[in-house]
Amino acid sequence: MAIASVVLDIHTRSLESAYSYLVPEDLEGEVEVGQAVLVPFGRRPAVGYVVGLSVTLDPKVEVERLRPIERILAKSAFDETSAELALWIAREYACPTVAAVRLFLPPGSLPKARKADDGSWELTSKNLGALEGRWVRLGEGAREFKPRADAYRQRELVDALSKGPLRLSELKATLPGVAPTLRSLEKRGVVEVFEGESELVRSPATTLASADAPLPERLTKGQERALATISRALGRGDGSVVLVDGVTGSGKTEVYLEVIEAALALGRGAIVLVPEISLTPQTLGRFRSRFGDEVALMHSRLTPAERRRQWMAVREGKARLVVGARSALFCPVRDLGLVVIDEEHEFTYKQEQAPRYHARDVAAKLVQLRRASLVLGSATPSLESLKRCQDGGYLGASWERVRMPERATGALLPDVTLVDMRGTHTEGSSVFSPELADALRETHRAGEKSVLLINRRGFSPFLICEDCGCVPECPHCSSSLTYHARRRELVCHSCGSIWPLKPWPDPTSLCPHCGSRYLRAPGVGTERVEDEVRMLLPDAEVIRMDADTTSGAGAHQRLLERFDAKAGSVLVGTQMIAKGLDFPEVTLVGVVNADTSLKLPDFRAAERTYDLLEQVTGRAGRSRLPGRVIIQSYWSTHPAVACVATKDRDSFVATELEIRRESQYPPYVRLANITASGIDARRVETTIAELARRLREAAPGAGWQVVGPAECLRAKVRDRHRHHVLVKAPLGASLGEALFDLARGLGGSGVSLAIDVDAYEVL
Ligand code: ADP
Ligand code: ZN
Ligand code: ZN
Repeated sequence: MAIASVVLDIHTRSLESAYSYLVPEDLEGEVEVGQAVLVPFGRRPAVGYVVGLSVTLDPKVEVERLRPIERILAKSAFDETSAELALWIAREYACPTVAAVRLFLPPGSLPKARKADDGSWELTSKNLGALEGRWVRLGEGAREFKPRADAYRQRELVDALSKGPLRLSELKATLPGVAPTLRSLEKRGVVEVFEGESELVRSPATTLASADAPLPERLTKGQERALATISRALGRGDGSVVLVDGVTGSGKTEVYLEVIEAALALGRGAIVLVPEISLTPQTLGRFRSRFGDEVALMHSRLTPAERRRQWMAVREGKARLVVGARSALFCPVRDLGLVVIDEEHEFTYKQEQAPRYHARDVAAKLVQLRRASLVLGSATPSLESLKRCQDGGYLGASWERVRMPERATGALLPDVTLVDMRGTHTEGSSVFSPELADALRETHRAGEKSVLLINRRGFSPFLICEDCGCVPECPHCSSSLTYHARRRELVCHSCGSIWPLKPWPDPTSLCPHCGSRYLRAPGVGTERVEDEVRMLLPDAEVIRMDADTTSGAGAHQRLLERFDAKAGSVLVGTQMIAKGLDFPEVTLVGVVNADTSLKLPDFRAAERTYDLLEQVTGRAGRSRLPGRVIIQSYWSTHPAVACVATKDRDSFVATELEIRRESQYPPYVRLANITASGIDARRVETTIAELARRLREAAPGAGWQVVGPAECLRAKVRDRHRHHVLVKAPLGASLGEALFDLARGLGGSGVSLAIDVDAYEVL
């Protein structure tokens, strides 16, 4: 008799990873891996997922004691290889198996067994809502239509559609707030909204010859090298990884398009991961213009019904290429041959909730299982990937790096100047050095645009009492309160609590500690920088972009539209402006303070800082106009700052890798962060102490190291106390599995335990 291995969809920590059930006679030949099934569990029915089938009997399994599967609930969602990957994820990242299996299920509808009022069990699944059937394409009016220079969103829309029609739902997901622009362009006949007859709407019906980017006539040397290397990897089909290390604008996306075409020509499917913030209609349009309706989009802003439709198109083999964020990795692409991860260094590829997987590592495992290839692309590759390439491979797969140091369009990389800010501060002095102030004036006078990066929102990240020196903190969190001048509020950026203030400066605003009237706002945030630009350039359009100004739907786009509209405008923003902005008139990038992120006690602080600086540098001089970058820093000798200015990434990487090796941090070891949190500080402490004790007792030997326990840097968040312990283990160690076993039975009674393997967030 056949036996099915079933992962139960029940939330308890003590659950086995999978249970064995009999396939009863009436279901013989019908049960498949990947199906949802209903099975008895104790005295209740439970939903489970079949992850394996066998006929050979394990002698330990007593067949007569096995209970049968009751019925099949849903068609198979994944195959045996995916099941294998799911089980690997659960072990690797110490998460409940069902959480890993869920990644592979069709979006939007998981059947649940629920107890009804009369005590019987019933199955429920969510209603996904209606599907959007409409598409958008360019209309007749598009031929004569020239978007006004200041109509940024119209241009984005027309540009994206010039590459072919897009679903309305896709436009809404990738260009939030697009509806009014669509309506006005529809009235003028520039775009047409039509009801799609089927999934199969073929490529460009109307094309704007000028707007459509043609295939490049000639590939650059770097592109050719990259293509050759990736083609060899594709040919071997052995899970090889190729890292394309190319500056912004070096033509990486063009390389992806070429190799995807090669994979599709071989009859194999492909997955492209892009950080969601870069998943614009243009990006989607670039893939659609090459691959038409074979492209499926996976985006968190799509409606559940829409996500499900796209997923189904992949499963049915209608779409052989998936473009999307992290979760696209789990789509059932047929005969997967290639996975591409763009901006592979991005920390968003690490999921911060269980299952806390890293997409890069899951992808590497996936291509190994599927005999496919992985292409990683970045202008600032992660130290993990660089080291693996240096070593020539990792965990049995070959890792190879190809460099593309030149921009494909021939545009020059901007000049970078470092300004040492030490000793420049005087009472009432500007946040701008004379160099940056001059450059801002000149750029504005020339009618060109500037971008200013300051990685803190609000006016000042903290207040300080002139009399007693205290810094007002959030009573629920261990963080100082940020002063927001526009809203006249003190805000906790950790929990979001708000304390209104009287008009600033106001003699009645009192120190919570000593009652003094003199609270000073000494730090620098986006609001203060905005104010200072206005003082410096009274007639310039100044746009501030941070979490406070971009919360509404489409707010982001509206701000960019304003920035685009006026000559000589200035954009002030947090790291959200470092990515993807592509405005030809930006000739100056200023970094107000490069050090904010350097000082965090996080071993990746230098890497994060370097990446951010390099990325924001890439915003300048993207077209004919040469660009320049001015970086202000109190720590200009630090390699993460200095090497951006000298454009010497190699020496930054070498220094940083040496530090990591000496101090035994990733990428030289694996690192897990286990955090206990709860309202009751004592319970939190005893839980983490017990875990640390077990860890020290069980540490499987050489190369394992337990650090802590200790209070987290963010010791309290929303009234929950946080303590953690770090575990280092040799590369290749089964860290997740070991932790899962050791943590068994811990936590509960108000204390939650979060195991984060290969942690990126250690504060
Ligand atoms: P990246 O992804 O590395 O930032 P892209 O692939 O987006 O670079 O290319 C940047 C620009 O250069 C795009 O406008 C693209 O059309 C153009 N481009 C890419 N490859 C070539 C080439 N071989 N010759 C000319 N232009 C190219
Ligand atoms: Zn005081
Ligand atoms: Zn708080």
